[in-house]
Amino acid sequence: MSTDFDESPHTAWQTRLPHMGKNPAYVGGSAMNPAIVRASTVVFDSTAHQREMRARRGEERIFSYGARGTPTSFALEDAVSELEGAYRTRLLPTGLAAIAMALLSYLKPGDHVLITDSAYQPMRHLTEQFLRPYGIEFSFFAADGSDARAGMRANTRMLYAECPGSLVYEMCDLPALCAMAHAQGAMVMVDNTWGSGVQYRPLTLGADVSVMAATKYLSGHSDVMMGTVATRQEYWQPLAERCDAFGMTVSPDDAWLVLRGVRSLAARLKTHEQHALDVARWLETHPAVVKVYCPALPSHAGHDLWIRDCHGTNGLVSLELPVGTSQQQVDRFIDSLALFGLGASWGGYESLVTPTDMKQARSVTDWSAHGPVVRLHIGLEEPEDLKRDLAQAFSHAGLDKVRAHE
Ligand SMILES: *Cc1c(COP(=O)(O)O)cnc(C)c1O
Repeated sequence: MSTDFDESPHTAWQTRLPHMGKNPAYVGGSAMNPAIVRASTVVFDSTAHQREMRARRGEERIFSYGARGTPTSFALEDAVSELEGAYRTRLLPTGLAAIAMALLSYLKPGDHVLITDSAYQPMRHLTEQFLRPYGIEFSFFAADGSDARAGMRANTRMLYAECPGSLVYEMCDLPALCAMAHAQGAMVMVDNTWGSGVQYRPLTLGADVSVMAATKYLSGHSDVMMGTVATRQEYWQPLAERCDAFGMTVSPDDAWLVLRGVRSLAARLKTHEQHALDVARWLETHPAVVKVYCPALPSHAGHDLWIRDCHGTNGLVSLELPVGTSQQQVDRFIDSLALFGLGASWGGYESLVTPTDMKQARSVTDWSAHGPVVRLHIGLEEPEDLKRDLAQAFSHAGLDKVRAHE
């Protein structure tokens, strides 16, 4: 389309306003950061250009319509692909939406998916809300992978892992599970929210698809929601086609915020790790604490696999209180904390605490003989202050005299 039109001052404002101020002339350098490109409509030079772009957008990354991504979301996709060691990445509005769209892209009625017992709880909800009504079979395997081979069926299309697992961070031998699943014709999808691409990289360990809640560490500031699905080349097309068909997209402003968070991801994780280890080691010596869950501790069942496959730990640490600790004491402990926000999600700069229900969260592993488990997210605050806060909260809950180690 010709962009020449009558710019004479006599042309009506109604006609001039929509066309002016679009291509400012200037000289100088370029911005450090990608621009936020907000778009629904994308315009083309000619019908031939538009036709060509539409013909190519199935395979190539083409800026052709806002819902199919903008230069801002493309920039974040590239960053995530590099983090994950992936062919390409698709962005979704939440981490849960990323999991759901990936399941929808690879599974069909009659297929079976073998799911880790350590999957975060909304994934379990998805089995009842989506898999069961749509005729997709599912069953669970122990979070350490020990019974995964026995759980495979003739129609198993996917093995779904989350490693380290939610709440108590179980490790599985992902390369071994991938080899086993691939030999039986199944793909492997991993929820990599814990690893964030810096601490754990499932695609480099043999997995086919890796999902992250960018809501957590990638964004890092508890102010934006986003999910990512990163794939090997062979698994790209079904995901891209299904996301396009369903009109799945993210806002460029949100993509820009996550990309801003990614710049400091490694530096923040290093600090979270140092602070979490400091608090975790202190918790191990506290009389009220029966067990501390963090894969970087030698006492953790998955510690050797963590050493082999991970590149560090993050701010997550869970603690188990003695059997017989009352709900009232747990509530009192949590409510007495001053520096820990009480809330779900994690990965921001701040410390958080949340109660868990391990008996509900696991169906393969029996948790009935354990005491209550509380999850902490250790933020960027000074660890000495966090330990002081935890100590006074134990004390307020009457949990400082318990002799858990005797
Ligand atoms: C938080 C979380 C998600 C989901 O992320 P949202 O953006 O909150 O939907 C998925 N997997 C794991 C392991 C999580 O912790």
